Amino acid sequence: MPKHRLTTPGPTQVPEQALLAMARQVTHHRTPEFRCLLAEVLADLKHVFVTENDVLLLTCSGTGAMEAAVVNLVPHGGKAIVLSSGKFSERWAEICEKFGIRPVRYEVPWGQPFEPGRVEQLLRQHPDAVAVFSTLMETSTGVGHDIKGIGQVVGRSDALLVVDGISGVGATECRTDAWGIDVLVVGAQKALMTPPGLALLAVSPAAWQQIESIDRPAFYFDLPAYRKALRGPNTPYTPAIPLVAALAESLRSIRSEGIEQVWARASLLSRATRAGIEALGLELFAARPADGMTAVRFPEGIDGKALLGRLQQRFGVKLAGGQGPVAGKIFRIAQMGLCDELDVISTLSAIELVLVEMGQPAKLGAGVTAASRVLAQTGGELCPHPGASDEAAAELRR
Ligand SMILES: *Cc1c(COP(=O)(O)O)cnc(C)c1O
Repeated sequence: MPKHRLTTPGPTQVPEQALLAMARQVTHHRTPEFRCLLAEVLADLKHVFVTENDVLLLTCSGTGAMEAAVVNLVPHGGKAIVLSSGKFSERWAEICEKFGIRPVRYEVPWGQPFEPGRVEQLLRQHPDAVAVFSTLMETSTGVGHDIKGIGQVVGRSDALLVVDGISGVGATECRTDAWGIDVLVVGAQKALMTPPGLALLAVSPAAWQQIESIDRPAFYFDLPAYRKALRGPNTPYTPAIPLVAALAESLRSIRSEGIEQVWARASLLSRATRAGIEALGLELFAARPADGMTAVRFPEGIDGKALLGRLQQRFGVKLAGGQGPVAGKIFRIAQMGLCDELDVISTLSAIELVLVEMGQPAKLGAGVTAASRVLAQTGGELCPHPGASDEAAAELRR
């Protein structure tokens, strides 16, 4: 069996403990055992999201939770401001249009970040906008948006702030309550290291007030049903029970490390990757790169599809290509979840080798050297191996 090195910004590799948890016999969800497991998961999610708000667990992919946020908050015929700069942020506008909601788009070119000042202007021009839909990490471009800054301007208006943190949460800093995020949407299959099929929502008291005040064209996604079930805690309908068991394991590992430490590691790995990419003479795509992933332009004159295919065939390294207008123009590497320092080094090394094999002028070792320099500066304290014992990790941090 060849090694598979899944290094895409979702889905991501799953820890062995989480895989093993799914191999156990299915339990029933209306039992004290399941309620206990769900209670632990919800408490750990509050730690990861840095929130005291209600956290809801939905059995669907991330997009399902995006749809739930839209249909529960904004009535048919209502208005919403949508910050759009890539495939995923544009999805907010597409969902709005499907449900007869008028999106006011603030569009910036792919690869660029949103400016909080422009959001403030739009809020002043559209005081009737119910919500601002935005994105923490735009996975299609690698941009990390300034949600803290956007939260400050939205907080001074009557609108609610909704953030797609599907890929970003658990990799890049995100403080739900401190930043004024009313609805945070998260997917389990990205930085939370769980197989695809679960999504999470954190809902503020102000958002609940809005939800309760409108007609919601939803049944499966009608959020008050999920809120009611929290008393168990339980879910209103049958959840993907084995996935909840897997998520519990992945969250235990994040919790034991602490979310701040997890952010710090993703940041370090991303800085090392960016240094390596630039040392290879390649260009970063994002003007404000997110911690947790790196988007890179293919060099001029190279067949990007062939490069990604060769990385997979030669080394089992699976990277993501570009989507929509940047298909064939960029590729994307993850630095989230189980990714560690040697994943950064080995991915850069594989890229160097393949570039040289394809006749590109890359200097062998240049990317690896630059990345190693960044990693060496920390003396290892940020990167105890996630499998290291607690004592060994504490020793390394000392
Ligand atoms: C992956 C992703 C989505 C879509 O999630 P699915 O689980 O594929 O539905 C939406 N937004 C962002 C930012 C993503 O990274």
